Amino acid sequence: MQQISVKTQTSQSVIYIGDDVLQTRLPKLLQGQTNFVVTDSNVFALYNSLFKTYFKDAKIFVLPHGEENKNFTSLQSILEQMTGAGLQRTSKLFAVGGGVIGDIAGLAASMYMRGISCVQIPTTLLAQVDSSVGGKTAVDLGGVKNVVGAFYQPQEVLIDPNFLHTLPDREIKCGMGEIVKYAALSGEIFDKLQNNLDKLSSLPFLSALTSDCVQYKAGVVERDEKETGERKCLNVGHTTGHAIELNHNLSHGESVLYGMAIETQMAIDYGVCDKEYGKQLLEIIEKALQVTPISNVRFTALEADCQKAKSDKKNTGDGEIKMSVAKNKNEWTIFSLPFAEYCNVVQSAVSKLKFST
Ligand code: NAD
Ligand code: ZN
Repeated sequence: MQQISVKTQTSQSVIYIGDDVLQTRLPKLLQGQTNFVVTDSNVFALYNSLFKTYFKDAKIFVLPHGEENKNFTSLQSILEQMTGAGLQRTSKLFAVGGGVIGDIAGLAASMYMRGISCVQIPTTLLAQVDSSVGGKTAVDLGGVKNVVGAFYQPQEVLIDPNFLHTLPDREIKCGMGEIVKYAALSGEIFDKLQNNLDKLSSLPFLSALTSDCVQYKAGVVERDEKETGERKCLNVGHTTGHAIELNHNLSHGESVLYGMAIETQMAIDYGVCDKEYGKQLLEIIEKALQVTPISNVRFTALEADCQKAKSDKKNTGDGEIKMSVAKNKNEWTIFSLPFAEYCNVVQSAVSKLKFST
């Protein structure tokens, strides 16, 4: 079992990675108080015996699966049931699921009695390599992703790679979106992907990158928990990614891959990203997009998407669209464009990319 800690000014999280994390950590964590579990309908059905083994004395809230349920109404239902279950300040909330569950349950934990301990048990590749770590919690509101939330570090994150065996192929690709994001930031992860392009659909290969990604993120979060500076690097691909996610019915990880491709092409065109490096990065992104390809993604009428980019949290309201982009190996920067220019350039970048139809 591997152990990584994340120390911020106000908290300490410990991340455990390995086949034995649940049996090693859960009995200790569950001792002595009423606990609460939030999961989704797919995970609950697939892992019923796990819930019976570990959480038989806890109150379990099962949210219907899907991003559309990461909303205020669901958050309210979770908080009502937590109140009804009589949880105390010493109770713990266990978030067992993908990024949707981690985000909404983490937010509920941060709000209940002004904060009870949260244990993240991520069950998707995306959640294992990225979202369960770092304490960002949120729900979507008014068609805007993650617009209501809090920074709230989990007490522990238990990453058991065995959960990934039941993941549909498309969800593996979603996790790859965030893995490729880490490749754009860390030269070490970049080299691993570039040297193994033929393994991008291999679960053991991708899962073995979990500790690299988590380690990278843990370092960034320790240095800049509240995203005032360095943590913005983790938004690579996300400005355009979030803009297209809700409009095109794509998953978060898929949108990040498309967003990274578009923003990298734009950064190359403006001379912000080194041409040779950018070409290599695009090759990795395009290879990742070819795994379980999605049909009928048409980036033709992009005006509505660009409008979404305007309401993204990363923008300060000065009319500029801000993107975190890779400049070169181990180097990134903020690349800003006025809104009207951004819209034009998105369209021309799309027409240059291999996925454009
Ligand atoms: P998800 O939680 O919707 O899970 C994807 C699908 O996989 C769901 O249908 C789920 O029921 C199913 N599933 C989960 N575990 C499974 C398993 N072991 N076997 C079979 N099916 C399983 O989505 P996701 O891709 O995990 O996460 C996306 C969400 O994460 C988005 O809302 C995004 O905004 C958020 N996110 C948050 C952060 C953060 O730092 N907090 C970072 C990245 C993404
Ligand atoms: Zn993301």
